Amino acid sequence: MQVLRQWRLFQRYSRYGNYVALDSDCLFCKIINGDIPAQIVFRNENVVAFNDISPQAPTHVLIVPTLHVENAAGLAKMSPTLTADLFVAAGEIAATNGLTGYRTVFNTGAEAGQSVFHAHLHLLGGRGLAWPPG
Ligand code: 5GP
Ligand code: ZN
Repeated sequence: MQVLRQWRLFQRYSRYGNYVALDSDCLFCKIINGDIPAQIVFRNENVVAFNDISPQAPTHVLIVPTLHVENAAGLAKMSPTLTADLFVAAGEIAATNGLTGYRTVFNTGAEAGQSVFHAHLHLLGGRGLAWPPG
């Protein structure tokens, strides 16, 4: 069953070129696949969004592409459309939560705080957000 589900996803996303599939060792791929539970707040063909397990603001949602790619630049190279879809989802989730202002962040590389190497857009809101960030 697991193999079948992955194969279907591979078929669906192979249109993006090269080798594109979920990675069975990746935490966020497991959440996308339903193998690890998460509080899903938004889902469509290209995007899954779920509450961060360690929220840094009243709204802290992780918005991820439904294919495995390490970081934002890799995603943008693979599919500008899918990259834009993450931001469209952010706007819809923010509106649903009644946020008039919010922050979207991609951390890239361990030095910048990236700990999960599946591209993900943080959506933070519901409190005042200082600038510059820490
Ligand atoms: P990064 O540090 O890579 O930019 O962001 C990774 C985020 O994933 C962190 O904010 C962390 O709290 C969150 N996270 C880590 N493990 C899990 C998990 O198992 N479930 C959920 N929902 N979030 C997670
Ligand atoms: Zn992944």
